Amino acid sequence: MFSEQLISTLKKIETPFYFYDTSLLQKTLFAIKDAADLFNYNLHYAIKANANKKILRLISKHKFGADCVSGNEIEVAIDNGFSASKIVFAGVGKTDKEINYAIQSNIFSFNCESVQELEVIDKIAKQNNKTVRVALRINPDINANTHQNITTGLKTNKFGIPITDLQYIISQKHSFKNLNIEGLHFHIGSQITDLSVFAKLCIVVNEIYNHFQDKNFKLNHINLGGGLGINYTKPENQIPDFLAYFKIFQKNLNIPQNVKIHFEPGRSIVGQCGYLFTKALFIKETNEQKTVIVDAGLTELLRPALYQASHKIINSSSFDIKEKYDIAGPICETSDYFGKSIELSKTSRGDILSIYSVGAYGEVMASKYNLRSIAPKYFSDTLLQESFI
Ligand SMILES: *Cc1c(COP(=O)(O)O)cnc(C)c1O
Repeated sequence: MFSEQLISTLKKIETPFYFYDTSLLQKTLFAIKDAADLFNYNLHYAIKANANKKILRLISKHKFGADCVSGNEIEVAIDNGFSASKIVFAGVGKTDKEINYAIQSNIFSFNCESVQELEVIDKIAKQNNKTVRVALRINPDINANTHQNITTGLKTNKFGIPITDLQYIISQKHSFKNLNIEGLHFHIGSQITDLSVFAKLCIVVNEIYNHFQDKNFKLNHINLGGGLGINYTKPENQIPDFLAYFKIFQKNLNIPQNVKIHFEPGRSIVGQCGYLFTKALFIKETNEQKTVIVDAGLTELLRPALYQASHKIINSSSFDIKEKYDIAGPICETSDYFGKSIELSKTSRGDILSIYSVGAYGEVMASKYNLRSIAPKYFSDTLLQESFI
């Protein structure tokens, strides 16, 4: 996967740690930007996927906007080179303090998730003597065919305004005196690999857009969220097929040219550039199975425990015959496994295991549970420079 020089440098670092391949990230950024530019689509990187400063700086240099889901994310985005005029702010539970902060920061748009939230933003905007731009995050009741814990667009999920409330909002438009309701927003889930789901979304978006048109309700942008999945099974140097993704929308959306189209990708940008390196501490053998206990756990990478996610894992220290192992962390939780019955080269105490595709929803979900230390991170560009010295 990497040069021998890099691998030998990595093996000297105290585990567990995150490692980011910045050149893969750069290639991915060029790929998505080029594809989006073909269709004049606007991109907002979803900060929550990975908010480490160096990664944010690399992304903001490519002139992305940011998709934020908390006041702190807005602050971090602005601090790391994202223009406030390209920030969108979603989330079902925005506090008054966060709303105030976003208004004072002059962000591009609130993605508003309920009628009550519209009323509160209107009130706080009035106190600030401002008119703020709002997009309605609509719950389109579409099944994203992904894990239930990352499905967001079903009517039973907490996210978005139900379609049944739209009539009321349209009729009350003029009562929200300090709001410019000028966009629609949709985000139906994450790790979506069945692209036909996005075609279905387009059909609903067209219908809702037309409904607003019929009521003389002017809209100037439509935000289609994120959600494009990545290949966790064969991750090596994978750049998602952004062109195929955008083409689905270009083919199925029936929206006038003057309405701007926005996307908020997270995972598809940063997912593949991150690795978690961990050391085998003990090999427990019972009659039925062998379990490698490693020094990283759900405190470093929560996805397997939270979403039953599987990541490719290899033993970077051994080229021996393959054997099947369960791979578990040290945390006092029964769900603290990275995989069960995984083929690894014969593994011994001290071997370094590499866990792939952890760039998105990895480091950001780290916790101090069991009073663990937060794992450090390293980047390919600076590590290589250092290892030349
Ligand atoms: C999480 C999230 C995204 C990004 O989703 P990915 O699956 O990482 O692309 C985009 N928009 C909103 C509103 C989100 O909550």
